[in-house]
Amino acid sequence: MTIDEFDVAIVGYGPTGAVLANLLGLTGIKVAVIERTRSIDPKPRVMRKGGDELAGGVYTGVDGEPILHFEVDPVSTKSTVRPRVAPRRCIIQTELEEDIRKGVKQFSNVKELLGYSVFGLGEEAEAVTLKLRVFNEETGTATDTAGEMSIRAKFVMGCDGGNSAIRKLINTKMNSLGFDEGRRHQALGPRSRIPLLQPEAPGLTFPCPRNIRRWEVKLLPNEDPADFSHPETGPERCMKLGEEFGTDLDSLKLWRAATYQLHCLVADKFSSKSMRVFIAGDAAHQMPPFMGQGLVSGVRDASFLAWRLAYHLKNEQLIPPTESKVLASYEVELKPYITSIVGMTKYLGNLIGEPDMEKATKRDLAMREAMKSQEKAVSREDRLPVLLGGIIGLGTPGAEKNFVQPFAFSADGRGRCWTTSSHMSIARAPLGGRNCGLDNSAFFDQMGGQKLVCLAKDAKDGFAGEVAGVRVVREEDTILTDWLKLHGNATVAVVRPDRSFCYGTASSAEGLNDLLVTSQKMIVV
Ligand SMILES: Cc1cc2nc3c(=O)[nH]c(=O)nc-3n(C[C@H](O)[C@H](O)[C@H](O)COP(=O)(O)OP(=O)(O)OC[C@H]3O[C@@H](n4cnc5c(N)ncnc54)[C@H](O)[C@@H]3O)c2cc1C
Repeated sequence: MTIDEFDVAIVGYGPTGAVLANLLGLTGIKVAVIERTRSIDPKPRVMRKGGDELAGGVYTGVDGEPILHFEVDPVSTKSTVRPRVAPRRCIIQTELEEDIRKGVKQFSNVKELLGYSVFGLGEEAEAVTLKLRVFNEETGTATDTAGEMSIRAKFVMGCDGGNSAIRKLINTKMNSLGFDEGRRHQALGPRSRIPLLQPEAPGLTFPCPRNIRRWEVKLLPNEDPADFSHPETGPERCMKLGEEFGTDLDSLKLWRAATYQLHCLVADKFSSKSMRVFIAGDAAHQMPPFMGQGLVSGVRDASFLAWRLAYHLKNEQLIPPTESKVLASYEVELKPYITSIVGMTKYLGNLIGEPDMEKATKRDLAMREAMKSQEKAVSREDRLPVLLGGIIGLGTPGAEKNFVQPFAFSADGRGRCWTTSSHMSIARAPLGGRNCGLDNSAFFDQMGGQKLVCLAKDAKDGFAGEVAGVRVVREEDTILTDWLKLHGNATVAVVRPDRSFCYGTASSAEGLNDLLVTSQKMIVV
């Protein structure tokens, strides 16, 4: 039985699939989300995620309000790192997923198909057919052919995690970056001090939301993973580690102890030959948690995919997916970018898990010295790689780097500088009048773009409202101003719909016009 036809079918309703469903829901296209489990996984997983590099932090939640967990911490403005960026955020993955799904439910154009596992895929010229079976959560299988059905979609997004069936069905291999480490992960409460990283028990611990703390310890060759995962000996071993780390054991309650094999993997290809099937999130890359980039990388993929798909579907009569520059640029941008991030997590993992006492001592001394000087602090966002190609105005200052996500005051009060998932331009005053060259509107209109002028915090003109289709807001802080100053003293940036990156920057109305013309050439079919 074929139940329906969709523009996009998302396989997997973890954080990557849920954010993608949300962003595509906003565009009005017809979406199906297929998830084999009926409820959200309650196990503790993500506890910390990256900060403001996370594509804007304003994914629409219920009633258009931002999803709380994606909002950055206000203390970011106290950061000593310039320009200021957000610190990591502590979250509980299950709660985050609940919130994102609440956002999805407001879109009548998004249909949830829970309890179905995808086991087959057939690509045709115009669409993809997915084969689904009812998933038995007790056995972890989907072998019963009784409830088998098919759905057709123009595009399929494999957001189905590390063991992705979609990745296998499109014959994509994972390449290993050569890191293969067994670690133990546990969550306990309450908080306590951070131990030194010693070769005899290499690992780390950090505070999590509320009164939870997580320990991660690298298993040594003589340690048996089964001892740590066993329901009787596991908790005992974990508590013992808590004791070694100076924790008051009587006040602890163990939430979960589990052993994981950590990998550094990146998919060979991010799409099928027909360019109708894409993979994202853990399906496309896996990494240890040392940079807090697992979750945000999937969310970044979703935000990179959403506007590309929406744009292509709007123009699908004009060009087949195999010839679309916009669709092809997904892998062009992401593969080198994520390979670099995964490589960095490998570096950090090796640093943390140093088995040689002499080298570990040197490492600790060097780190203590570095930490003495706040001035030298470098945020993890600043260590993120740059985009090497794709839809960016290479050669304009800052274009390849993560963009910032400032707060601003508008006629509606305090909020993010921009509110919609669209192509847009921002600027800080003064730049030859409020419109500062934004009258090249045909391209923006085609992208559903928003024109926005962001006045500097200390701008004399305190006006915040809308003039001739241009939204005017006033920056709350100096985050955007600092970023633009740092990048060629620019006065204007064309921001991509994913908001993680700007297309390019300029410092004159002519420069802005050039940006619009070149970005249009890269995107418009
Ligand atoms: C113990 C642990 C701790 C972690 N800690 C952190 C952390 O602190 N910070 C961080 O950033 N990351 C962390 N991670 C990684 C993070 O959880 C993942 O990167 C993130 O969940 C990936 O999201 P995803 O949506 O791509 O995949 P998943 O979360 O794996 O979601 C995939 C979904 O697809 C569904 N699915 C699979 N196959 C099918 C199929 N055939 N048909 C239908 N549905 C299917 C699954 O049921 C699942 O719901 C941790 C992971 C673990 C295991």
